[in-house]
Amino acid sequence: MSIGYISNSDCGRHDTGWGHPEHVGRLRAIPAALRMEPELLMRVHHLESRHATEDELSLAHDRRYVASVRDFIAQGGGRLDADTVASDGSWDAATAGAGAVLDAIDLAFGDGPKRSFCAVRPPGHHALYSSAMGFCLFGNVAVGAKYARQKHGAERVLILDWDVHHGNGTQALVEQEPDIHFLSMHQWPWYPGTGAASDRGPHDNVWNLPMRAGLPPTDYVDAFRRGIDAATAGFTPDLVLISAGFDSMAGDPLGGFTLEYEHFEALTRHIVARAESWCGGRVVSALEGGYSPERLGVACVRHMMALE
Ligand SMILES: [Zn+2]
Repeated sequence: MSIGYISNSDCGRHDTGWGHPEHVGRLRAIPAALRMEPELLMRVHHLESRHATEDELSLAHDRRYVASVRDFIAQGGGRLDADTVASDGSWDAATAGAGAVLDAIDLAFGDGPKRSFCAVRPPGHHALYSSAMGFCLFGNVAVGAKYARQKHGAERVLILDWDVHHGNGTQALVEQEPDIHFLSMHQWPWYPGTGAASDRGPHDNVWNLPMRAGLPPTDYVDAFRRGIDAATAGFTPDLVLISAGFDSMAGDPLGGFTLEYEHFEALTRHIVARAESWCGGRVVSALEGGYSPERLGVACVRHMMALE
């Protein structure tokens, strides 16, 4: 069984500058780490992603916002919020990032592979309905969830977010749809300050797991597994999406969690096993954060091995 590895060189054209933690070196580390695992490299089904259309992005975002980002970038870009910048390559990068998730979903519901990892940037889980936020322009995973429902008739979608930051954007984009269940585990208190356990969304389809920094790694793994159980009680998803943020890894400059490669591997294997029982094993994972490039590359490769 092969695994999809979906990337697009345009994602490297989102130029935030080397002083910004979300720089292009993050993505370059992934193929570099993959080349160290030639057997996996031979098995992956590598695909250069398409670009999401404005109609597709508007499945989750305000159409006027999508057009305003396009126009802003066409005029040279600049600062979209306090820590989110856009360069002249950012439109192609952002649409390729979302397009990768859509391609992975097409594969999952088509001839396969059933599981893919999308090595994309900018990340997506902070992007709101009509504004950029926290390094993110468009909610890649939220767009994917809506696309799977509309294009492939998926009735129920589960989104699992282990990035160290609350997936506030994803929550905002999906919480009105009871058939999309969203689980986010994140450091608390921490950026962006949302994601209290009591915040279940208007339809109780959101599970927030705020966790203190510096706990033993198995505490995070166990909490996340229990969160998956809670989010899927009486709910059998047709597709599982992972917001794979590796800033929850020990030593990340933007987080205080303690997870190591083996813990992401264990969580991934657990999710795959559950997905096999729910929906023929359809899992689409998309990169979110992770700001120690070398470790990020290895973590992505170990995640891909476990996804396989
Ligand atoms: Zn993050």
